Amino acid sequence: MKARLLASIGMVLTPVAAMAAPPVAADVVFTHGAIHTLDAGDRVVSALAVRDGRIVYVGDDAGALALAGAGTRKVDLKGRVVMPGLIDGHMHPLAGGLGLLSCTLDYRRLTIPEMQGIVKGCLDHGGSAAEGKWLVVINWFQQETQPIGVETTKALLDALPTKRPIIIQSSFGHSTLANSRALELAGITGKTPDPVGGQIHHDANGQPTGLLEDAAQHLLSRLVPPPTVADNHAAARAALAAMAKQGVTGFLDAAAPPEAVEAFSTVAKEGGLTARAHFAPVIEPKDGPAPDKAIAGIVALRKAYDQGELSPQPGITVRNVKLFMDGVITAPAFTGVMLQPYRVNKGTADMPDWQPSGGTGPAPYFPQPVLDPLVQKLAALGFDPHMHADGDGAVRIALNASEALRKAHPEWGTRPAIAHDESVDPADYARYKALGVIPVLSFQWEKQAADTVGGAKEFMGPDRYARLEPSGYLTQAGAPIAYGSDWPVDPLDEWFALKVGVTRLNAPSAGEQYAHPLPGPGLTVAQAVHAITTGAAYELRMEKVAGSLEPGKFADLIEIDRDIFAGDPRAIADTRVLMTMVGGKVVYSAD
Ligand SMILES: [Zn+2]
Repeated sequence: MKARLLASIGMVLTPVAAMAAPPVAADVVFTHGAIHTLDAGDRVVSALAVRDGRIVYVGDDAGALALAGAGTRKVDLKGRVVMPGLIDGHMHPLAGGLGLLSCTLDYRRLTIPEMQGIVKGCLDHGGSAAEGKWLVVINWFQQETQPIGVETTKALLDALPTKRPIIIQSSFGHSTLANSRALELAGITGKTPDPVGGQIHHDANGQPTGLLEDAAQHLLSRLVPPPTVADNHAAARAALAAMAKQGVTGFLDAAAPPEAVEAFSTVAKEGGLTARAHFAPVIEPKDGPAPDKAIAGIVALRKAYDQGELSPQPGITVRNVKLFMDGVITAPAFTGVMLQPYRVNKGTADMPDWQPSGGTGPAPYFPQPVLDPLVQKLAALGFDPHMHADGDGAVRIALNASEALRKAHPEWGTRPAIAHDESVDPADYARYKALGVIPVLSFQWEKQAADTVGGAKEFMGPDRYARLEPSGYLTQAGAPIAYGSDWPVDPLDEWFALKVGVTRLNAPSAGEQYAHPLPGPGLTVAQAVHAITTGAAYELRMEKVAGSLEPGKFADLIEIDRDIFAGDPRAIADTRVLMTMVGGKVVYSAD
């Protein structure tokens, strides 16, 4: 209420201030729109004015037009919707950008002839590439290769007219399919033993089929030359273009290698940084017990690249640090740290008998006595810890470390974040709010699908299954939720994710099998949209300058082709961004 009152005072004062001050005209004035400000009162106004990269007015048309001068660009929105630019609180933009420049199966449900057609297209596109040049094909939606259950072997690739080594990598990162030439170069034969944590599949004759799982993939990937510096720069540019098209005006690189910070900084120097770029370098679990050297490396990275105070022109920050508490709860990995054991089928496929004998996953990657002092060291240096925790056991450890931090240093304004939170014990829901811990959620996982929670009903059991992906429960408990796409683990599709966050429904094209919503409460449209604007702005310490459309904040805004706040929420998935503005500059336009 108080905020609404202040806002209305602002509406009255702004034109008066403009008249009293020297007449400096706005650069751009939008009128006749449905402008969703996402301010504290979720006000919708018709007009907005921008000067020097900042919003100088929101309110009615007359008030905005009073700020227009001879050189002002006037945009008549004709009723179209404008809202704050999207802020993606967890993604991997360098890998995402490299993926955009690679041969890709694009996460699609494909038959083997379709896969062959796409790979052949990439080979043809490569022209006269040397015989020894690796072709890496990415984003294979392995579980949905059509028809479901079809065998995928090296024969699929050996049928193609090339001598080049080829590997196809699954989108979820656990499997690689290789052709015979790639197996030969890697020296993988029927006699090669499985590496620790990996598996080489064999046929009835004991020969490798070409399919390699988990750590075995490294036998191949280590032979592929890493991207060059120029590749990384091209990837950063491609990632930024893809973000601008989606309406993303700020992001966190949630596991930033130094080359990512370097690449985006180079693009920034060229004047091409079209989103506010935040980076969270990783501290590896092995460095947890004696972290000083790893921390010093991150401090050096911050010194070299962090641009300090934010300005309308997008810049770079290095003030988050990534820590992995566990892996993923999904099959077949089961690397999420759980409080109770995974269930295993002790019966048969026809007569299943699920028993809680699967263990609770790996040991936490950072044990509590290691994590607590590490989090406090990072906080003392001004870093916000960004902790990957997928299982409820890992989440609890991350919350405990946050509690220890608050107890030891209640005066520090640290903003710990826990990414993913796919399974959270109900006893922990209220702790996020109480401890000021931000859950960074990937809404697009909150649906029935083979690659997200497929099979979870069985291996989690009914109780845990009923409360998987707890965005609704966390919101009810007052947690300050933010959104992160985790791109390129999934395609960069923020609008599909928002739709799933509200409906907990997969796309109709996913098929009958996945046509029902995931159990548990979803979010309202407003809650989901706030998570990807004001919520993520708070996570990234941008709430004073971004996340909502208010006078004084940066002009980071998007124009979209529909009113996502009204009508069937399933239609949010089809939203098209018509224009993206960052710091008052148009960085994407649909026409
Ligand atoms: Zn991630």
